[in-house]
Amino acid sequence: MPVEQQRIALVTGASSGIGAATVRALAASGLETIAAARRIERCEELASEVGGRALRLDVADLDSVAELAAGTEVDVIVHSAGGALGLEPVEEADEERWRQMYESNVAGVMRVTKALLPALRRGRDPQIVILGSVAGVEVYEGGGGYTAAKHAVHAVAQTLRLELLADAIRVTEVAPGLVETEFSLVRFGGDAERAAGVYEGLEPLRAEDVAELIAYCVTRPAHVDIDYVAIKPTAQATAKITRRE
Ligand code: NAP
Repeated sequence: MPVEQQRIALVTGASSGIGAATVRALAASGLETIAAARRIERCEELASEVGGRALRLDVADLDSVAELAAGTEVDVIVHSAGGALGLEPVEEADEERWRQMYESNVAGVMRVTKALLPALRRGRDPQIVILGSVAGVEVYEGGGGYTAAKHAVHAVAQTLRLELLADAIRVTEVAPGLVETEFSLVRFGGDAERAAGVYEGLEPLRAEDVAELIAYCVTRPAHVDIDYVAIKPTAQATAKITRRE
């Protein structure tokens, strides 16, 4: 009997946090993985750990995306590249940070999807998983640049769901609440103390909790699309309302 080929999953933002954990979870579920991010050394280390591949990728750079797409066969894309920069009110908004958040979170999803759609159309049980956020459906003070970007991600996910219906390409948006990764460290420019404060007094999600959910979505039968799913720590009700001890 012919051995069934493994599906191939490309994970963006695989050098850290949810992306890295997703590479591990998908590899454990029997998929072949491609770990992609700017910090290629981290991706290479992860790839050798799980027996997958690593590719350098800057989702904000069209050439980098084109280079990645050339000759890459893929069945599943997990868009985890992204994050927040700063927590200033709109009045004090930093133009460059807002641009960067839009580039990595929103335009990055568009670029990578656009470049890999021909490959996805040839793929087996093709699927796109997009990391949204509670910030994609809620707003909070100081979050304007990030919530605007994640609201846009939510809109792009829903748009793709309509546009790819005819192609039978599944589109899944996974929207986490507080997950302890490098997210807050990046948001606060490397200020570890301020980053730790975000999770103080509560038990946040671990990257693995979200990765397990993504692996569940990706391993459903081809006729099942987990369209949108939110995942939060038990101690979190909304983006800002939490129970802390
Ligand atoms: P993280 O640990 O900071 O990981 C972010 C990843 O994105 C890194 O691997 C980073 O890799 C990559 N990245 C950023 N800009 C990129 C670019 N221009 N090109 C390629 N890769 C880029 O944070 P995380 O928590 O895992 O975040 C993953 C996703 O989940 C993000 O979209 C974030 O918005 C979303 N999310 C996180 C939380 C949370 O609380 N942590 C909650 C809701 C949603 P390089 O720097 O090596 O390129």
